[in-house]
Amino acid sequence: MGCRNLNTSPPLSPRMSGTGCLLRQSAVECVDTGRFKMYKQRTMRPVEERFWEKVNKSDDENCWEWISSTRGNGYGAFFTHTPPEGRKCHGAHRFAWVMTNGPIPSGLWVLHKCDNRVCVNPKHLFLGDRSDNMQDAAKKRRICTIGKSRMTHCHVGHPFTPENTKLTPLGHRRCRACTDISDAKRGRKAAAIRARGEK
Ligand SMILES: [Zn+2]
Ligand SMILES: [Zn+2]
Repeated sequence: MGCRNLNTSPPLSPRMSGTGCLLRQSAVECVDTGRFKMYKQRTMRPVEERFWEKVNKSDDENCWEWISSTRGNGYGAFFTHTPPEGRKCHGAHRFAWVMTNGPIPSGLWVLHKCDNRVCVNPKHLFLGDRSDNMQDAAKKRRICTIGKSRMTHCHVGHPFTPENTKLTPLGHRRCRACTDISDAKRGRKAAAIRARGEK
């Protein structure tokens, strides 16, 4: 018998170890030689090949746009089919990062220098945390600058100073003073419920 698909994982390069089986699906073990080879069947093509054919690479410097499906949030969506997890959806820009630079440390995001969500050019990607993401969004004016965001005070009248302003994940401002007041109210309510329960 020649090669059998054992669904075993190929040795991962040090760069890829820790990323789980992102790249495993394309390799099958050849029992005879003990070496790994890439399957030529359509469904088993190397994951890199499947990924990059969905990208419109212009030149090195410009955006490489994802031309396959996108997620509702506007980022490219790339699917892998790997046992035992099965079908899995990845952010295309995140996948591009992992293939180029290795695993994304937990708590960090892959952000775009170019602010083009479908861009997967590794040169346009960088790692940052949540607050980097917020600052980046504000800098690029992704955060809404019309309507309520022109207000200088909250509905109660607290000023939207940097100290008193919190940004939600969507980039909306929250008044800290008001948040504290409602937190306190909620705390009192919970305490009251607890007190009633204990009687
Ligand atoms: Zn770009
Ligand atoms: Zn307020």
